[in-house]
Amino acid sequence: MSDFKLNFQDTKTAFADKSTDELNEKQRVFRLFNSDLLVDIGSKATELALRWGLPVKGLIKDTFFKQFCGGETIEECQPTIEKLGASNIGTILDYSIEGQSTDAVFDSTKNEIHRTITRAKEDELVPFAVFKVTGIAPFEILERVSNNAELLKRDTDEWDKAKARVTELCEYAHSLEQPIFIDAEESWIQDAIDNLAEEMMAAYNKRFPLIFNTVQLYRRDRLEYLKKAHEKAKQGNYILAVKLVRGAYMEKERDRADELKYLSPIHQTKEDTDADFDAAVDYCLENIDDIAFVAGTHNEKSVQLLAQKMEERKLDHNHPHIFFSQLYGMSDNLSYILADNQYNVSKYVPYGPVKDAIPYLIRRAKENSSVMGQMSRELDLINKELKRRKVDS
Ligand SMILES: Cc1cc2nc3c(=O)[nH]c(=O)nc-3n(C[C@H](O)[C@H](O)[C@H](O)COP(=O)(O)OP(=O)(O)OC[C@H]3O[C@@H](n4cnc5c(N)ncnc54)[C@H](O)[C@@H]3O)c2cc1C
Repeated sequence: MSDFKLNFQDTKTAFADKSTDELNEKQRVFRLFNSDLLVDIGSKATELALRWGLPVKGLIKDTFFKQFCGGETIEECQPTIEKLGASNIGTILDYSIEGQSTDAVFDSTKNEIHRTITRAKEDELVPFAVFKVTGIAPFEILERVSNNAELLKRDTDEWDKAKARVTELCEYAHSLEQPIFIDAEESWIQDAIDNLAEEMMAAYNKRFPLIFNTVQLYRRDRLEYLKKAHEKAKQGNYILAVKLVRGAYMEKERDRADELKYLSPIHQTKEDTDADFDAAVDYCLENIDDIAFVAGTHNEKSVQLLAQKMEERKLDHNHPHIFFSQLYGMSDNLSYILADNQYNVSKYVPYGPVKDAIPYLIRRAKENSSVMGQMSRELDLINKELKRRKVDS
């Protein structure tokens, strides 16, 4: 193993574009998120306050929202795009509206994603576009299609509309040569999403990686899926493009499997998930000429390992098939140090109306509130940098 090592503890570089006031503010938010109890009470109180129409929007926008989202509109994200861009970090505009399912909402979400594709094309600081299929298609239809359930006439119409929206976005991205990610979601709707994504890749990834599907390595079956998808791509003469992630729906997956009494598709231990994530990275590296991939992770070990393996294989840091990506407001130590070393790095910058971003913010908080979680890692780094600035001043 190469002794090449990136120094992710270099908080001076990681927080170079944050003023001490900004860091203090970040510290306050992350301290709150670091407590299970506060996150629980806060999440419930926020949901209730919004439901009762209490004027909490401004407060949320100036605190949590500001740390994890770029703004309410594409235009409001402009300062964030520029700030990240100044450190060679790309922005991925992620229109995050969840849980609404009428044709009118699906169409307006599709139109907004259309705008993000246009915006990405216009600006090299925005290297990718992204969408979730559930933002533009009914969950129930995706579930029925994934189960090979019989579709009634009404379902067939809904499914045709869903496919048309996905096709329209991918065709548009292709017409502009603008790469785009398709996020992965719950396992019981993922087959429908995979089939759509593979169809789009077969059509549009002939010359270069344009459509990226997402592979969740917390699922026991996904390493095999990755290999099969690669075989299919070879046979179909297109480039396989994938975003590798661990997976965001673990609790929900386990609860559903318990309730419906089937074997959970999720690995039993974190170690198994980690091993599959790193094995998937290896597989992509071994086939780097015909696979393009994004390591969508905050896991320092996985990022370090990938950087080391690129070194061993003498692959350029900015290899056109290898990308790193983190979420806005998180793991700046990874993003900024990678960018400082000329790797391809971008951050998902969620945006949208504050009230629609609440589920996303609550997920960020909950996912990270345990003692071993991401927030304590974030907090440690912020504390370290604040201390360093005090000593240096
Ligand atoms: C750029 C980007 C894009 C993303 N896109 C998607 C997407 O499209 N779909 C999606 O589902 N998620 C997505 N995610 C979220 C991602 O799946 C993870 O939830 C999140 O990044 C945390 O995992 P990690 O690799 O960063 O690091 P870590 O903190 O090392 O890993 C935490 C993850 O490990 C897994 N895990 C934790 N405990 C256990 C256990 N006991 N047994 C088995 N597994 C366990 C879970 O997946 C958990 O989220 C994305 C993340 C990023 C950064």
